[in-house]
Amino acid sequence: MSTAFRPVTRALPGLKSALLDALAVVSPTSCAGCAAPDRSLCSACSAALAPNVREVDLHGLPVTYAHEYGGVVRSVLAAYKDGGRTDVAGRLAPALAAAIASALREHAPPVTAHPVRLVTVHLVTVPSSRSARRARGFSPVRLLLAHAGLRTEPALRARRQSADQAHLTIQGRRENRDHWLAPRGALAGRHVLLVDDILTTGATLLEARRALASGGAHVIGAAVLARTPRRNPVPEALGGRSGTIREPP
Ligand SMILES: [Zn+2]
Repeated sequence: MSTAFRPVTRALPGLKSALLDALAVVSPTSCAGCAAPDRSLCSACSAALAPNVREVDLHGLPVTYAHEYGGVVRSVLAAYKDGGRTDVAGRLAPALAAAIASALREHAPPVTAHPVRLVTVHLVTVPSSRSARRARGFSPVRLLLAHAGLRTEPALRARRQSADQAHLTIQGRRENRDHWLAPRGALAGRHVLLVDDILTTGATLLEARRALASGGAHVIGAAVLARTPRRNPVPEALGGRSGTIREPP
């Protein structure tokens, strides 16, 4: 990124992703999954992004996920989030949408049985830290949701700035995230589905649930694009035991 670009992206964060999308069209590119030339995403990597929706229990919070975080999924997500490859947002979005649809099917409470009508469920994302926003210039989850045609509610705010989670231990992440979120707006009685990109320890989602519940919302579950298999679950100190995976019917 040129230094001339930075003041513009600071002023208008959304501009960066729009420019990157445009650049991917006019510039020679490579596959975001395997670096094969001249393709934004090759056919083999596209096939690897077909969702396989499953669910894990995170201390009573059902988390629906579309992928295990590894291989091509990991490469493409890393390229998307931190490599400037916003051109693949439209290729990742359907899997997140599939996880959301499954979560709503499974966990949105019915208002009436015949015909079946479900309550309105609001999609809520976790606010990015200021440093992550500044580094990326866009919100990875919100961009995916925009590509899926889905709208989120700004129901959470950061109480204080949290350090970047990526370089912390599990214990460090937990301390960093403790009570760092607060509810925003009128949430009493609202049904909420949390949406995030990667489930790692689950500490972020649990903190989001705590904050939303403190504002009176009912969190029916969470939907994420990918779940990190082995670094999950959250530590015993959070009241945790190993998560159990339930295959969808
Ligand atoms: Zn590829």
